[in-house]
Amino acid sequence: MEQVVIIGTGCAGLTAALYTARANLKPLVLTGTMPGGLLTTTSIVENFPGFPEGIDGYELMTRLQKQAERFGARIQYGTVDGVDLSKRPFTISVEGEPITAQSVIIATGAGHKHLGLESEDKLEKKGVTYCATCDGALPMFRNQPLVVVGGGDSACEEANYLTRFASVVYLIHRRDTLRASKVMAERVLANPKVKPIWDSAITEVLDVSKDKVTGVRIQNLKTKAESVLDCAGVFVAIGHAPNTQLFKGMIEMDEAGYVARKHGSQTNIEGVFVAGDCADHVYRQAITAAGMGCAAAIDCERYLGSLA
Ligand code: NAP
Repeated sequence: MEQVVIIGTGCAGLTAALYTARANLKPLVLTGTMPGGLLTTTSIVENFPGFPEGIDGYELMTRLQKQAERFGARIQYGTVDGVDLSKRPFTISVEGEPITAQSVIIATGAGHKHLGLESEDKLEKKGVTYCATCDGALPMFRNQPLVVVGGGDSACEEANYLTRFASVVYLIHRRDTLRASKVMAERVLANPKVKPIWDSAITEVLDVSKDKVTGVRIQNLKTKAESVLDCAGVFVAIGHAPNTQLFKGMIEMDEAGYVARKHGSQTNIEGVFVAGDCADHVYRQAITAAGMGCAAAIDCERYLGSLA
């Protein structure tokens, strides 16, 4: 039986792995479908402390994995297809193979919601991005017109942030009022570099034939009129979905599916801890996920110590 199984290998999961490994708990770390997590989809990470020149997201996660492995963490590739947290030891099924564990750290992360356009997928990382904090400062976006899609706090935050770099930021929203909190909405609408485009949806990101973003085709949802807007980047900020389906009905969550924390990283089930974006809809940064991973590892170590 494992002492601790960590589900997820993003910043939260691998930091939890590092700490539990150094506590000599020999964690088993399950990768899921995206080893390394969302950060591996980002190019340069410029805001992770300790890397003044920035670091490639994939490289950061590879290094973090090596660091955890150096102290005894074991990484197992595979998808978790079932969990039974109703009794101890807990059972985690990886592609049909059961693993039993005294404790579990859930670090399954969250995924960016996509618009669902073929051109969006084809131009991802070629001008289409889901994180202004990660990618906004890249040279390709400097002094260029940029598009942000969405009407919530994320979209407003991203639009405001991008005005530091862009010549103009078009905020494309499918309705004529923002969903964002009043303060965020007022701030973005008062920003002279933000131009809202209401009641509109992107129907195509241009230009797949040039292998980079040159603009967007938009449709006014009220008049049905189509137009093309030139831009160098499209920042999709239409919300996140936590990867917590697996735990529905077992672990307490909020209505959006983010895992609820009790004391520190403890979930409603004793011995099951949570860290990172699957429990955080506010900060969602690599460094905050890493911090939560560290906290979950310490809580888990104390819990296992209390059983001895
Ligand atoms: P959100 O509040 O769910 O807003 C998502 C926005 O995207 C909505 O305006 C929605 O339009 C739009 N949208 C959804 N699906 C779409 C689609 N397929 N095509 C076009 N538009 C689409 O998500 P969020 O902005 O990421 O915020 C999530 C949570 O984090 C919120 O509780 C928010 O307050 C919090 N947050 C807080 C801060 C902060 O306080 N600094 C920053 C970021 C996030 P409709 O309005 O028409 O539904």
